[in-house]
Formats: sequence, C-alpha cells, structure tokens
Amino acid sequence: MSNSAKVLQAELISSGAELLSGRTLNRHGQVLGAMLKSHGVELVRDTTLPDDVEAMAVAVREACGRVPYLFISGGLGPTVDDVTRKAVATALGREIVRDEESYNLLKGRCEAVGREFTASRQIMADIVEGAHALQNAVGFAPGEWISHEGTDIFLLPGPPRELLAIMEQHVLPWLRENLPEAKVPEERILIVAGKGESDLAETLEQNDLPEAGVSVAYYSGPGQVELVFRAMQNIEGLERCINKAVKLFGDDVVADHRCAVEFLLAQRMDLLGQTLAVAESCTGGLLGGRFTAVPGSSSFFKGGVLTYSDEVKADLLGVPKDLLSKKGAVSAEVAASMARKVKETLGSDVGISITGIAGPGGGSDAKPVGLVYFGLAQGETCKVAKRQFSGDRGLVRERAVQYAMDLLRRNLG
Ligand code: ATP
Ligand code: MG
Repeated sequence: MSNSAKVLQAELISSGAELLSGRTLNRHGQVLGAMLKSHGVELVRDTTLPDDVEAMAVAVREACGRVPYLFISGGLGPTVDDVTRKAVATALGREIVRDEESYNLLKGRCEAVGREFTASRQIMADIVEGAHALQNAVGFAPGEWISHEGTDIFLLPGPPRELLAIMEQHVLPWLRENLPEAKVPEERILIVAGKGESDLAETLEQNDLPEAGVSVAYYSGPGQVELVFRAMQNIEGLERCINKAVKLFGDDVVADHRCAVEFLLAQRMDLLGQTLAVAESCTGGLLGGRFTAVPGSSSFFKGGVLTYSDEVKADLLGVPKDLLSKKGAVSAEVAASMARKVKETLGSDVGISITGIAGPGGGSDAKPVGLVYFGLAQGETCKVAKRQFSGDRGLVRERAVQYAMDLLRRNLG
C-alpha cells in the first residue's frame, strides 16, 4: 500500500440496485465515515450505483484521479449481480485471477459446513490481478486491497457485518500503522435544549464565537441541538469556546457529551434519592418507555399510568370529572391534576403528566393539533407548562416526551 498521498481523503462507491430502489438503507457511508474520521481520513464523497459494470468502472477511474483512498462496497458475492471485481478490473485494465489462498480457505470452509464447493462459490476466490485478499472472518467472500497509481483501493463485502469485520481486522490496523501522523481534529460537544439551531448560532455570533481556528457544527434533534466544536491546532481556543458557550447557554445546557437525557436524569434522581411516576395521555407510554430503557431504572422510576380516555383519567387517577368537562382533557388544570394524582397514587416524590393533541385529527381553533400541556408535581408545588409543537403525530409525541424530560431536568436542582 502506498503512503505517498498528502491529502488524506477517501471516497466510497456503494454498489447495489437495492440501495437505489428504496429497499435497503445505505448505511455504509455513515459507518465508514466515522471509522475513517477517527483515523484521520476524511470521507469526501459517497456514490451509490446500480450493479452495472460500465457505470462502476467509470466511477472507479474518476475516483482514482481524485483521492488516495477508495472504498467500494458490495458486489463481491457469487451471484450474477455481483459485478465489482469485473468493474474494478475493467477500470484498472487488469485481469481477474484466482487467489490460491482464498480458494483453499473457501474450499475448507465449505467442507466444514457440509456445503458443496460449487463453481459459483469458487468465483469468490477470484481477485483483481495484483490485489491482496483480505480474508473474511464472518462470511465467505474476501475483501481486496489494490494499490493503483497512488490510490489504495479497498473492496469490501456488502453485508454490513462483513464490511465491519474486514475494516476492523484488516483496513483500520493498516491505517494506524501507515498513517501515524494523520491528524484527527479535537472535538468538544454541547447538548443544548429549548432553543433552535438558528437561535444558538445567533447567540454564538453575537459573542464572537467560535474564535479563529475553531469550527462549530449543529445537529438538531427533537427538543435539542448537538453543537460540535472542532479544532485542528487551536486546542486552547477550543476550550475557551466551550467554556464561553456553557456560560452563555446556562440552564439550557443538558450535557457536555453525547448522551440520551433519560440516562442523565436517572443518575440525577439516584443521586438525589428521588422517585418518579408519570401519567401520560397523548404520548401513550412513550415517556415511561424512555425511563425504563435505562438499566436499573427501578431505583427511581415507580411506574406510570396510561390515561388516554377521560373516564380513565377520572376513574383510575381521580382527576375531577367537572374539571375534565369544564376545562377539557387538554388543559393546564387537568395536566396539573394528573401530575398531582399520579404522584399521590404511586407514592413518588415527583409526578409528571402529559396531555395534548397529537393529531392529525382532534384539533380546534382554541386547541390546535400540537398543543400539549405538562404537569410537574414536586412536594406541595405543581408547575404547568404549555407548548405548541409542529410536525406530524409521531414528531409531536416525540417532542412532547423530550420536553417533559427537559422540564424535569430543569427542576431537579
Ligand atoms: P454477498 O456475498 O452476501 O452477496 P456482496 O459483497 O455481494 O455480498 P451485496 O450482494 O452487494 O454484497 O449485498 C449483500 C447484502 O448486504 C444486501 O442484500 C444488503 O442487505 C446488504 N448491503 C449491501 N450494501 C449495503 C449498504 N450500503 N448498506 C446497508 N446494507 C447493505
Ligand atoms: Mg451479492
């Protein structure tokens, strides 16, 4: 493998008609991008092509002219739609030859599992002339590494498990050995809740952040934004930026690392020795589901009541019937009552409630789709919050769950 290239950039060509027809989600770009990034190599292009020799050969030739590392995934198997070897051989003007080591290994493995070593299986022992086979510990078809005029080309099997195995066993160790000088940017993360990415960007800009030599990227999810500050050299500047941002965003800062907020809440509840109960209407148990996904959550999570209908709100939880008829199930008063009652009934320190209109039907001018009330009962007090969420039913419910958890976070002290 040559190590002459200065610019550590890579491209990926993902092959397979199923990746373009909507049948299979192309996941290799994400997986490879992250693996390469942590080894100082930047994935700069991900091309998806059908199983077409000519189209792939053209793409291979073009990519070789652009980058020092090229990864090609899929199409190494034994079926007629597996055309990667042929495409690469065509692109590089090389033959396809039998690899004795792979042949013997495959033959032995077929015998071991009682499968006939048919002619079509033998195809998997064929490699591009001059390539080195990268043996596949979890599947049959080996990968290949080809050094070609300054570009290192890696052929990887399509099944994600096999691609991962070959990357981990062969390619990443090679990168570590051959690119010890590769620079990986330093990264600091801030998870911020309650503000949109444009508000956050504006605040940073008004405060001259980030400083020179530091970049910031925004990744927004329901109810929160992940800010990623990066620096190649200005590490002190990176620390300064993160410290300033923490001060600027104050209580909106959820965490300084990538995490799900329910795990933070579980830790905090444990530390405070507090217990929690939830009463859910429009989220149908999703909030309880998030808390109980945390291993060991029984230490703080007492349980929940799924009070979807008015009768269940009244009969099971004890929300006054006249409150339900006068104010409606989606109201501040009912949210407060649900939170108080669930805290009382389940004997917890904290009670949270969610009641709202997830849609698409059921909205009105006074109470539109996306309107959600939250109750948070703690000790003798009960806070109520009202939010108007946008999005479809799924998103409204997800945003409501995220908001309820953020409400708890802000009020735990
Ligand atoms: P096989 O020997 O299994 O045929 P192969 O190297 O020929 O392996 P493909 O035939 O292209 O690979 O793909 C095999 C399977 O791997 C596909 O059915 C698909 O499920 C999965 N796969 C391929 N490429 C991707 C991708 N980019 N993202 C996710 N899954 C993929
Ligand atoms: Mg195949």
